Amino acid sequence: MFGAIYGDIIGSHYEIHCTKEYDFPFEADSTFTDDSVLIAAVCKTIIDDPSEIGRFEVRKRSVEYAARYRQFYSYFPNAGYGNMFSEWARNPAAKPNKSYANGAAMRVFPIAYAYEDFDQMMLQVKASCYPTHNSREAIIGAQEVAAAVRIALEGGTKEDIKDYIEDDFYDLSTPLSVIRENHVFDSRASYSVPPAIIAFLESHDYESAVRNAVSLGGDADTQACIAGGIAEAFYREIPDSIVKFCERKIDVTIKRTVREFMDKYGR
Ligand SMILES: [Mg+2]
Repeated sequence: MFGAIYGDIIGSHYEIHCTKEYDFPFEADSTFTDDSVLIAAVCKTIIDDPSEIGRFEVRKRSVEYAARYRQFYSYFPNAGYGNMFSEWARNPAAKPNKSYANGAAMRVFPIAYAYEDFDQMMLQVKASCYPTHNSREAIIGAQEVAAAVRIALEGGTKEDIKDYIEDDFYDLSTPLSVIRENHVFDSRASYSVPPAIIAFLESHDYESAVRNAVSLGGDADTQACIAGGIAEAFYREIPDSIVKFCERKIDVTIKRTVREFMDKYGR
């Protein structure tokens, strides 16, 4: 889980100062953003109520995710949320948003760790999407990321991950070097999530996955969060230098919540 958060932190500087460089330096002004805040919110939702749901309980469960999103937003109201999310979070009476952005995919990691049954995991992903990303595009993005993490946690290969996702929905056949040429900042799920997954597929360790994602020159924090979260589940190892750089930059509430979650569900 911290692999996703570290990706968010390392990418945060380059969300504003886009780079196409692979060997970019880690920057002093890097900070955790909404990605990390909402990962902690999903952790807290599951810690408080880990129970499984039936097919017709998605909306009921989504109320619990929504409450935690708003709670954690209130702790960190300036963490770089999209406008739609902020407006939704500030208004307790707001209806579910239909955002098609990558915000549902960036926070889905805890669900892949907590729910071993694949169908249950997908139901929980839907519930986690419903309050703020109730669109097919955003839900697919979140489901593909969750699937990648789950397959990695079960010891699957990169081919297993690629095959599953390509059979299911995304085309992952374009090499990163080709995508990078014209890639820009666009947080649309169908635009930003597949390259983040390819950034992982073309990596050889955790660090290279994050560097691949940031050097796309796009939505760097979220793409590095996604690539880093999958890479962590796959490689099970993060270099000490990255841990050291990032640990100083995570708020204690986020750290405590994610640690509590990982004590229970980490593997
Ligand atoms: Mg962010």
